[in-house]
Amino acid sequence: MRSPVQEYLDRLVEQIRPHDQGTNYQAVPSAASMDPSLFGLALTTVEGHCYAAGDADHTFSLQSISKAFTYGMALEDLGPERVQEKIDVEPSGDPFNEISLQAGTGRPDNPMINAGAIATTSLIKGRGGRDRIGRIVNTFSDAAGRELKVSESVFKAEDRSGHRNRALAWLLRSFGILETDPEPSVQDYFRQCSILVTAKDLSMMAATLANQGVNPATGERVFAPRVVRWVLSVMSTCGMYDDAGTWAIEIGLPAKSGVGGGLLVVVPGQMGVGVFSPPLDDHGTSVRGSLAIAQIAQDFGLHYGDVP
Ligand code: GLU
Repeated sequence: MRSPVQEYLDRLVEQIRPHDQGTNYQAVPSAASMDPSLFGLALTTVEGHCYAAGDADHTFSLQSISKAFTYGMALEDLGPERVQEKIDVEPSGDPFNEISLQAGTGRPDNPMINAGAIATTSLIKGRGGRDRIGRIVNTFSDAAGRELKVSESVFKAEDRSGHRNRALAWLLRSFGILETDPEPSVQDYFRQCSILVTAKDLSMMAATLANQGVNPATGERVFAPRVVRWVLSVMSTCGMYDDAGTWAIEIGLPAKSGVGGGLLVVVPGQMGVGVFSPPLDDHGTSVRGSLAIAQIAQDFGLHYGDVP
């Protein structure tokens, strides 16, 4: 017998799939040519139960969802004070790739816009026999509960087309926010964006954050509770870029979008939700992803302004 949660998710996928607005991410050929009708949804509870519907096993690139997890790594490695010297925690209200660096210091407003994310990646160093990207892939895999991999073809496409990100990195270098040659940091930023995941993986990564940093399926601690608190706060105010205010009003949950079509949403203490559908709105967020999350938040009364 199918569980009520499973029935609910299957019905939701059926209801939302006909919405066909939005455009696939164009900079990566494999994303641009993806079937726009793909739509997968997964929900993992803090007890580790996973429910999935639609194309929840289809792989796509993590893109900017990676920023929340590298930020967690930098906070773990250096502590919040040293990270905040380089990257602030204030919403910029700007699109993801805006050249928004604070006047005088060049400090990026937050780690969710590209400038802040590149600066974050530069703070992570190799350790324990792993280089930086090896550590990033390893930590993301711990959060997902399975071994993830960088897609070389997505990386090459990002690397070929990422002129603006390179320009941002060189600007950060000119202000001393990046302290060494920007190129290795930009390349690792492109690689972290190119890690392949499924909606199920996103839901487990989100559930790890919902569960105070412990992967609910493996029991492995990925982040300390104070780091999770910090990451979720910044996701709440900055995770949706120039749509963060509207998102806070309509959904009211910490979230991070990625132009690969993924959307990761955390319901602290309860569950993680992962959605995947390639067509994006003007903010670079999956159209079906937003619709699905809005419906789930409403149906289960999950908005942080709702009275339980
Ligand atoms: N790789 C993309 C970029 O840096 C990620 C943007 C996003 O997912 O919002 O431009």
